Amino acid sequence: MKICNLGPWVVRNPTALPCDENGHYLPPHYQPPPPPDDNRPELYPFEWRIDFDFAYQHFVEVQNSEGSINKAIEWWAAALLQHEDCPPWTSAQELYETIDNVQKGNAPWKTYKIRYQGPVPPGTPPKWMTETYELVTRDALQLAENQLLTTDFEKDITSVPYLQFDKEGRRVWSNLMSGDWAYKQATSIAEDPNTHGAMFVPIVAGSDKTTVSVATGHQEYHPVYMSPGILTNSARRARGTGVLPVAFLPIPKANRKQRKTVAFQKFSRQMYHMSLARVFAPLKPAMTTPKVIRCSDGHFRRAILGLGPYIANYPEQVWLAGIVSGWCPKCDARPTDLDGAGAVRRSHNTTDVFINSFSPSVLWDDYGIRADVIPFTHGFPRADIHELLSPDLLHQVIKGTFKDHIVSWVNEYLHLVHGETRANEIIDDIDRRISAVPPFPGLRRFPDGRDFLQWTSDDSKALMKVYLPAIAGHVPPKMVKCVAAFLDFCYLARRNALNTDTLTELDAALARFHEHRTIFTETGVRTDISLPRQHFLKHYSRSIQLFGSPNGLCSSITESKHIKAVKEPWRRSSRFKALKQMLRTNCRLDKMASARHHFAMRGMMEGTTLSYTAKMLRGEPPEPPNRPTDDEDDDGGPAPGPRVMSSVELARTLLNWSLERGYPKNVEDLATFIGQPKFPELIRRFLFDQLNPNSKIPSSAIAVDDLPYFGGSISVFHPAVARFYAPSDLCGAGGMCQERIRSNPCWRGEYPRRDTVFISLDPDQPGMHGMVVGRVFLFFSFVFQDVPYSCALVHWLVPIVKDDNTGMWVVRPKFSGNGRRSLAVIHLDSVVRATHLIGVYGSGLLPVDFPHEDSLDAFAAFYVSKYADHHMHEFLVA
Ligand SMILES: [Zn+2]
Repeated sequence: MKICNLGPWVVRNPTALPCDENGHYLPPHYQPPPPPDDNRPELYPFEWRIDFDFAYQHFVEVQNSEGSINKAIEWWAAALLQHEDCPPWTSAQELYETIDNVQKGNAPWKTYKIRYQGPVPPGTPPKWMTETYELVTRDALQLAENQLLTTDFEKDITSVPYLQFDKEGRRVWSNLMSGDWAYKQATSIAEDPNTHGAMFVPIVAGSDKTTVSVATGHQEYHPVYMSPGILTNSARRARGTGVLPVAFLPIPKANRKQRKTVAFQKFSRQMYHMSLARVFAPLKPAMTTPKVIRCSDGHFRRAILGLGPYIANYPEQVWLAGIVSGWCPKCDARPTDLDGAGAVRRSHNTTDVFINSFSPSVLWDDYGIRADVIPFTHGFPRADIHELLSPDLLHQVIKGTFKDHIVSWVNEYLHLVHGETRANEIIDDIDRRISAVPPFPGLRRFPDGRDFLQWTSDDSKALMKVYLPAIAGHVPPKMVKCVAAFLDFCYLARRNALNTDTLTELDAALARFHEHRTIFTETGVRTDISLPRQHFLKHYSRSIQLFGSPNGLCSSITESKHIKAVKEPWRRSSRFKALKQMLRTNCRLDKMASARHHFAMRGMMEGTTLSYTAKMLRGEPPEPPNRPTDDEDDDGGPAPGPRVMSSVELARTLLNWSLERGYPKNVEDLATFIGQPKFPELIRRFLFDQLNPNSKIPSSAIAVDDLPYFGGSISVFHPAVARFYAPSDLCGAGGMCQERIRSNPCWRGEYPRRDTVFISLDPDQPGMHGMVVGRVFLFFSFVFQDVPYSCALVHWLVPIVKDDNTGMWVVRPKFSGNGRRSLAVIHLDSVVRATHLIGVYGSGLLPVDFPHEDSLDAFAAFYVSKYADHHMHEFLVA
């Protein structure tokens, strides 16, 4: 198994040795045996590429109904009739049967019936006591084996726990296997002679109820997902087979009165834990006795499985930990003062001691423990649910503390202080300020209105990027500091890799947040702040040390799975007894995904259906798989390929801009065309600096006539592309991101868009200390004395101060004595990446129809936003 690129210094645990299929370890460098040859045609059970592509398009991509597939097959048959040929199927049902014959990715579903076995009251018992419930699950071990075998993840597997250190010798936590928990588990496995050399495979699990809407109300499902913990965080976050549904839990229903009864609460909770124990039972033998499994690199390994971190939102955590709602599942802090000092961590052992020592009512009142629930993890080796509950960025940070708490509290504060009319004016102004921010790659325009109920987590994440400058000036400085501290905590916690310094910063940001959030009690918005989701932030630092970055264990992973595993299959069902149909769809989708991957690895998905088929008919072999190609139309986002040095380049594929847009080639004519008469002189000053890098006299002190003369031709570009390593953002597999920086006189045919960039003046200085900001008025290139130059004409914005309240640098546009912009020509090599500037709005209101395209011209000073993306936050932290 390949190990991902981990940095300069890595200590690996001596586990995961390759073995043969009987479990005997192999000598070093022994090549894996070839996969078994099943003597079947390569595209089996499909005959031709068109057959597979047809099935994939209709069943997976478009998700056509049976009727539509029947019609498409009929048309296909009609087209082939004159050739006396016919399609592979006569109906959609036959097509489904072919998919069912795909053996890869197979893990059939089984149903278990559950009934209440407790005492029944006299008379007619409540319905929930007589009902039969169904747990639907599939073999977790088989599913784990399928997931590990899929070659999708060959490069995204860290099969051995490791301790990672950066160049400065600081410990780094990122993937689950970089955490102390995995290392400790693997060490105990390595020390045991029976398991020495085995590969530790923790199973990350998550469960979350989800609702689909039907005309008669809502239908709830309670899926459980699982993912091998040896996948990297990025692979787990990516779509695909890294996270798969393993079960649908039964959902007991009762009327409002029955729901409150002790008997129902006990039964529903016990059924929940019993079901989870059943779901993960197939893994249990392999938790102590190694199981030989085949991995994606072709090698067999002896695997020891284990229950890994569990992803759940707060209500589900309460159930999992067997605690009373309002208490913390991790520690025994009292619900009235969750963030107070002196709380002790919970564990199965201490809970057992308490249960043996105290009455159920004392346990309930003083320790928040439900005596009637035994967490399912009790029955599994090395598993303690209190430890395994993972941080949940989505519900605790993004939706919880930010949207539900901070944004609501700020609005409540405005109402309390100003009364409804003025408060609404200010809140409208905050909306306008948010709409007035300049465009930036990855920043979408904010939805109208403040209908929080309709907000998605992406809306909340988008608001985080622009919220702080919008409230500054409208709320007290302490409130601004509170929001800034929280945003810092959030951006630090969302990083893909955190080192010891980051954890110190994280704790410091949390301490600042706790210090400043008292503004909400001081101003009467809250009587107290003791909220379980917000309290969980106190457990982040330790959880990160145990399990790595929270971004690989967030409930956004399970929530996004709901779409493929529940919502789409539900829409495709007849809606009557839908679950069985949904499971069949899920099975077929898994099989098609596995088949497609298997075919692609053998070069059978190359080219188009037509070109590939033509090649086969000519008897030519399939081509080896290609690397993914760059998509030139992307405005920003993941960049394919491995980690490389950061760069900014002119978008050379658009070289014909100069011709299409009528830019003159000649420098003097171009200067007139763009309305910058000093442009030729600025190029000459730039050339002087380039040719005399060690000159003690600055080019600005040289007479124009003494500068190098440039009379060649110039090519103009509208975008430049910056590429940089940003694994915490939405990035490619190698962690690279790209963004397009625009300098366009008529963006989308509407208005000029002149983006701003960071310009490095001293790369040895951290953050803004070594940089200025430039607004790009022209991207261009030319050749001088056979040397090509890629340049930008920029208007300087210079840093003036780091604002105390927002913690952001403030820059001011520079003007010369006559009021003209201070411009310069700079080399593109000095451009670091795009910057996002947001106006310093002050305490006044923006005009009602303020156009966002005027933003960079309208304000005297700008915040350099550090929340535009994660890379920006990391890079501007100094
Ligand atoms: Zn706690």
